Amino acid sequence: MVVVSTPDVPAEVSHDPWTDQNSGMAGSPQDRSSAQRSGDIDRNGSGRETARDLCAYVDASPSPYHAVAETARRLISAGFTEVDLDAPVTPPGRHFLRSGGALIAWVDDEQPANVPLRIVGAHTDSPNLRVKPRPDRGDHGFQRVGVEVYGGVLLNSWLDRELGLSGRVVVRDGGALAGRTVLVRDDRPLARIPQLAVHLDPGVNEKGLVLDPQDDLAPVTGLGDQDSGAFQRSMATLAGVDVDDVLAWDIMFHDVAPSCLTGPDEEFVSAPRLDDLLSCHAGTEALIEAAEGKGPCLPVLALFDHEEVGSETATGAAGPLLHRTLRRHLGLSDRPLEGSLVLSVDGAHGTHPSRGHRHDPEHPVRLNGGPVLKANARARYATDAPGVALVRLAAERAGVPLQTFVSRNDMPCGSTIGPITAARTGLRTVDLGVAQLAMHSAREFCGSRDPAALHGLLSELLSS
Ligand SMILES: [Zn+2]
Repeated sequence: MVVVSTPDVPAEVSHDPWTDQNSGMAGSPQDRSSAQRSGDIDRNGSGRETARDLCAYVDASPSPYHAVAETARRLISAGFTEVDLDAPVTPPGRHFLRSGGALIAWVDDEQPANVPLRIVGAHTDSPNLRVKPRPDRGDHGFQRVGVEVYGGVLLNSWLDRELGLSGRVVVRDGGALAGRTVLVRDDRPLARIPQLAVHLDPGVNEKGLVLDPQDDLAPVTGLGDQDSGAFQRSMATLAGVDVDDVLAWDIMFHDVAPSCLTGPDEEFVSAPRLDDLLSCHAGTEALIEAAEGKGPCLPVLALFDHEEVGSETATGAAGPLLHRTLRRHLGLSDRPLEGSLVLSVDGAHGTHPSRGHRHDPEHPVRLNGGPVLKANARARYATDAPGVALVRLAAERAGVPLQTFVSRNDMPCGSTIGPITAARTGLRTVDLGVAQLAMHSAREFCGSRDPAALHGLLSELLSS
């Protein structure tokens, strides 16, 4: 039995030759020689070491709160210290602060106040199924857990999988007026959402699977009648407290199958939550690397929660956390706009092998083809030409190939934290990310060389 309960307190917590798909295209200038210098950024040979570390990061992060805890653990190991949300101005050094599923980290190396900012932004949350406040259900002799759909879930992908639970529980803390938050996770195969047999759903393969989010998605956890209070008892066990001391929870289901490299030559990564933990991982490692050198910019990492539901929360990109931290600790008003840059790093759509026509034909996006710049004329992405130029020049220096994504005119375009962050901070912002397939599936899919390429590019941008 694997039951891990972690307090929410500090510290405890050669097959694709890097071809640039857009090389030589009008309006998409790219240095071909960068493809030939792939060894410069592929420091681990094939990039697999970075990809395996990404798998470890993802598996340590089944919820946004765990992603923040894992990031904090890595930062502390690299000499960063945590500061309280309400701490006064910090002295120079490596610092971070966190709030729920969000974290801001920075390296202030006693540079002058007019040094520009370089900010890597990403999000810790992923579409999933979240447990309701009164979740205990009984249906036709089965005990089930009532859930809400969080974000743009590919609903079918949650069927017929072994599911565990993770998140945070707030428990009574003696006579204190506020509760104490405890991170919990249970990686046992606790639950499953069995699909209706094909015999009982005739025509399903012709008409497509249609799921009712209220009735079809409640995971089965056992046999028997409705047992009101069963879920609260399980939370008490995970948190190590009496059942009456459980005050509230933010709990979600996750796929318990470990992340892994796949394909005969391990060209791919199969993992949950690549959108956007891949970017959180690359940003964290790039900041740690940037901390080792004294560059001409002040590097910052900003990991936000709630991107998948619109970002309009205290810990989302539309909230005050980044702006407040930059003002309070990094003298935002004295920082120059010129040279400052926000990198909004989020998953990009790779061209699907059977649905290539869903992409603009002049902008194919390949797995293991390098990071993807994302453009949209209606500013659904914040990318502009001067920002692209900065990133292209950094990619050339780092020997990282780039690709470009733009939606077909007859397809809707997603959005990111990019435009929101640009509007809140007034800083030039570029949207980019790693290509993946099956975005918003319970199990996503990307190339195993791209995470190292993104890390190389972000390291260059944070330290030059
Ligand atoms: Zn995303």
